[in-house]
Amino acid sequence: MSITTANLGFPRIGRRRELKAALESYWAGKSPAAALLATAANLRKENWLLQQKSGLDHIPSNDFSLYDQMLDMSALVGAIPTIYERPGSGVPLDLYFAMARGSGEARTCAHGHQHETTGVPALEMTKWFDTNYHYMVPELASDQAFELTTTKPLDDFLEAKALSVETRPVLIGPVTYLLLAKVKDGRAEPLSLLPGLLPVYVEILRKLAGAGASWVQIDEPALVLDLSPAAKAAFKTVYETLAREVPGLKLLLTTYFGALGDNADLASKLPVAGLHVDLCAAPEQADIVLGKARSDLTLSLGVVNGRNIWRNDLSATLRSLDRFADHAGGIVIAPSSSLLHVPVDLALETDLDPEIRSWLAFATQKIEEVALLARGLKDGAVAIAAELARSDEAAQDRRESAKIHDKAVQLRTRGVRHEMTLRRSPFATRRVAQDKRLGLPAFPTTTIGSFPQTSDVRKARSDFSKGVLTQAEYDAFLRRETEKAVRWQEEIGIDVLVHGEFERNDMVQYFGEQLSGYVFTKHGWVQSYGSRYVRPPVIFGDVSRPKPMTVQWSSYAQSLTERPMKGMLTGPVTILQWSFVRDDLARADVCRQIALAIRDEVVDLEKAGIGIIQIDEPAIREGLPLRRAEWTAYLNWAVECFRLAAAGVADETQIHTHMCYSEFNDIIAAIGAMDADVISIETSRSKMELLDAFVSYRYPNEIGPGVYDIHSPRVPDAAEMADLLDKATAHLAPDQVWVNPDCGLKTRRWEEVKPALVNMVAAAGRLRASH
Ligand code: GLN
Ligand code: ZN
Repeated sequence: MSITTANLGFPRIGRRRELKAALESYWAGKSPAAALLATAANLRKENWLLQQKSGLDHIPSNDFSLYDQMLDMSALVGAIPTIYERPGSGVPLDLYFAMARGSGEARTCAHGHQHETTGVPALEMTKWFDTNYHYMVPELASDQAFELTTTKPLDDFLEAKALSVETRPVLIGPVTYLLLAKVKDGRAEPLSLLPGLLPVYVEILRKLAGAGASWVQIDEPALVLDLSPAAKAAFKTVYETLAREVPGLKLLLTTYFGALGDNADLASKLPVAGLHVDLCAAPEQADIVLGKARSDLTLSLGVVNGRNIWRNDLSATLRSLDRFADHAGGIVIAPSSSLLHVPVDLALETDLDPEIRSWLAFATQKIEEVALLARGLKDGAVAIAAELARSDEAAQDRRESAKIHDKAVQLRTRGVRHEMTLRRSPFATRRVAQDKRLGLPAFPTTTIGSFPQTSDVRKARSDFSKGVLTQAEYDAFLRRETEKAVRWQEEIGIDVLVHGEFERNDMVQYFGEQLSGYVFTKHGWVQSYGSRYVRPPVIFGDVSRPKPMTVQWSSYAQSLTERPMKGMLTGPVTILQWSFVRDDLARADVCRQIALAIRDEVVDLEKAGIGIIQIDEPAIREGLPLRRAEWTAYLNWAVECFRLAAAGVADETQIHTHMCYSEFNDIIAAIGAMDADVISIETSRSKMELLDAFVSYRYPNEIGPGVYDIHSPRVPDAAEMADLLDKATAHLAPDQVWVNPDCGLKTRRWEEVKPALVNMVAAAGRLRASH
């Protein structure tokens, strides 16, 4: 039986984030296009040569992108909305970046999304399946014409060939492309555009075959989703057409991020040469797929996890591959998905605890693991004896290490009882107690937590980390910033104050750095979108809170004022969702440990006299599993964790949550079940439409629908905000409504924030007068 090796995609950002530097310098007009393109070519070359050196049989090309692989596909097939100026043929860089970022000034909001203010807006951006990667949503017309508009896949293939690297070009398959697209005027289903799109795929595949490609990797991750009958039919049409029109070219139909499930039959019967399945996300599908596959179908087995940073347990993986020994079509050993979702090279992490480091593998190491596994299969365990021994040792060490296993945390997590997730009294009773304690006016005003992270604030933080500022000097600086913010909020008449979060670098990292069981990398960057990379913290062990994390800052801020100061925490689901999570414990259990740590913080804040505590959970919606059938189970534990974090306090302590922008319809019952006393959400840009979910659900608790779009530097006037509030009060009870901006203000400038919040307070005043 043939055993080969493959990679599905390599991170393109560079070991030292070279791509980011090159992009930003080009965008800033500081360097010419040629410099950017040279950096890009160099990164491609490095990646190809690295993979070639590891001995991989199938090395991807066209996995590189200057911005996003979906945007590349839109450029390839000519899906360029008419609002963008097309200066001739092809897709010149500036057109490409206009679609990516808009042609105006780029603005970034508190949760990292880009928003445009002038010029042509960017394409919409959204999350790639259940990852933290964001792709540019193809925007199609209902009469969209497609034509081959760039030759990027071909160019990249030839570029590699010139370096003596035979590659397997990667394309996103037509069904997935369309299912992720939007038809602008809504007058057609994206899938109905398939007849126009398919010939363009035929054309590019013919060109690739003509240039000498023997395989093409065609990514159809949509095969792990719930599919409509029309989508299933589209898969048949597409792959029958491609088999007929481009005979002789082998297609690897690539699925990842989950199980084929009810699409397994469909996927394994399509007339393609190979099928890739994710055996990390869904190990149970090994036997199913083996049972269904044609004997001559090459099976590509994703056994090295492309979504996390843990070292592969080589012995266990080899054992799991035994069952494929007789598969006539041959197997390919591969990562489960593109390695885009993991950092580039562990070798850069020279400061990490060596024990913890021995448990990790980044993209570069994962390539080696793929090669090792294939050697072990082909030549027997003796051929890789030394590597197996090291892997066994790491696996055993991880199972037993005192750094990971904390008896006290495990006991406490096991002891969580349902009563611990219940507030003492129902909302109606709590509300009376809170009214009495807080004495807030109708339509109380507040903000979501952060105030501008000015260059002064960032400089002080970096000076402190470099040792230029002492702890005492840095603290004094933060105290001054906090005091200024408190005084100013009092002055303009905000009812519930915040301390401003000046001490926080990031809403997850700040907590991760203070929790046990967490570790941070120096160079572990992962692309979130375009030139924005994140460095997710790593949860490697049982999580606990050695000491209070925010109490000092909140109490200090409260000591400055008679008005209520809101304590500010990030919730357990969001902390989990934005970290790399250990793979030796169920996510629900990890989340419960975090929830207990946050619960302790909530209780300590209450003890310190903080009467209002906000627990931010913007990531609950994005944690939803890819398959609807799994939603309830997830939402159950997610909500339970939030409640566990929140429910340790007395009735008169008011719990807030903030959830940014979400498609709330899907999760409104879960939001209800969270039972926060007050929830704030982002509603200004939707002109309060997002409130509909709450209205039709008859959401009983209090709500702060955002009245001010913090993604834009524009300062809304009081009338505009009062209008939005009128809309909100038309459907909600007046005593349900709070007045606040859409989200945190950390990415804004004080020059914008100050007048906007003054206007917001005035808008609340108008509302009070008219009710
Ligand atoms: N408290 C956070 C802030 O204001 C909330 C941000 C968020 O949820 N994205 O920055
Ligand atoms: Zn928000």
